[in-house]
Amino acid sequence: MVRIILFLTCSLFSIVTYAQPRPFKNLAGKWGLKNAAGLIIMHPRYDSITYFKEGYAAVMLNNQWGFINQYGVETVRPAYFSVQPFSEGLAVVFNGRMGYINTAGTVVIPLRYNVAFSFSNGKARVFDANGWNYIDKTGKYITGNAAPQRTDVAQTTAAPTGKFKLLYALERRGSQVSVHPAVTAIRSNGILEQIVASANELFRLPYDIPVAFRKIGAKNAFYSPSQKRIDFGLELVEDLYNTLSRNYSGQELIDATTDAVVFILFHEMGHALIHAFDIPLSGDGEEAADNFAIYLFTNSSNNRLDLIALEGAQAFLHFSEREKVISATALADEHLLSKQRAYRILCKVYGKDPQRYGYLVTKNILPIDERRQAGCVQEYNNMVRSWTRLLSPWTKKKQ
Ligand SMILES: [Zn+2]
Repeated sequence: MVRIILFLTCSLFSIVTYAQPRPFKNLAGKWGLKNAAGLIIMHPRYDSITYFKEGYAAVMLNNQWGFINQYGVETVRPAYFSVQPFSEGLAVVFNGRMGYINTAGTVVIPLRYNVAFSFSNGKARVFDANGWNYIDKTGKYITGNAAPQRTDVAQTTAAPTGKFKLLYALERRGSQVSVHPAVTAIRSNGILEQIVASANELFRLPYDIPVAFRKIGAKNAFYSPSQKRIDFGLELVEDLYNTLSRNYSGQELIDATTDAVVFILFHEMGHALIHAFDIPLSGDGEEAADNFAIYLFTNSSNNRLDLIALEGAQAFLHFSEREKVISATALADEHLLSKQRAYRILCKVYGKDPQRYGYLVTKNILPIDERRQAGCVQEYNNMVRSWTRLLSPWTKKKQ
């Protein structure tokens, strides 16, 4: 378990640093920068600012993204539909196609890729008409299979090797299909690839389980036991983004959407593993799948992954606003009501560390009395014990 947590920790959070100028927002909703002593070093003028990485933070103005340095100087004029943080001196930028700029804003690798990932160890994964490849920092292809986890849905013919396989329905080349910014961001930040790779390192699957992100005609995600596959509707990604936009904006909104998508993806992976391993359950499968997701994120000494569970709860709290009138059908559904799901997640997270998450209770985000507070601690511990034991035969031994 340590492994997946470390992996996720690196992928999700190593990019955040704190000894940096701090963004602040004025009453007009514009963002500026203060230094560590609290002095304003850049007056508010942007609609959004992300965290600093490699000395630069992405900024948004009129829905276009650029970069500033730590002194608040605009180094890249906001002119891109989306950007990724700098990595090894280059940042992925997107304007219909993806390419790379340097810290001065010069396009060093043209915007010619359908999908492009950040550089790591001098190479980056890209997808274009030539399929998946690695490129070097001049944009030259490096040989080697760049996409072990990720292929076009239409090309799924790989022999079963017992892995989760992440698939995206790619737009037809040349067509001008509008892709939701949340979908673009999640596709380009590579987090889902890393999560699927982590799960594959952790579990021994008896067969391949495709995880397909595609339009399914519903705001939903589900595991199909007969087809042994997970379908994650792009409609659900968009719905999460729209719903969470009431609380977040800019990069924070993308991050919150990503966290909620990751939580739901792990819920579906929970269903898939319960089926694949024929794990005995005495309760209902929906709660077990939620617990699987909570378990994987919270069973770590690193509290930062708890955020993913908290973001999952937040999404369900928002969904509950649609359940003002509770019908008999809703009560008879296999899922708990959204608000109950949210509270059960919050209860577990609170139960993990009542000191750290005491604010959930004092701020009445989780409305529970003292007796239930103690119950949450017990529930959390029981859940960890149960899932650790249930998964142990199927977890790969650490080398
Ligand atoms: Zn489910």
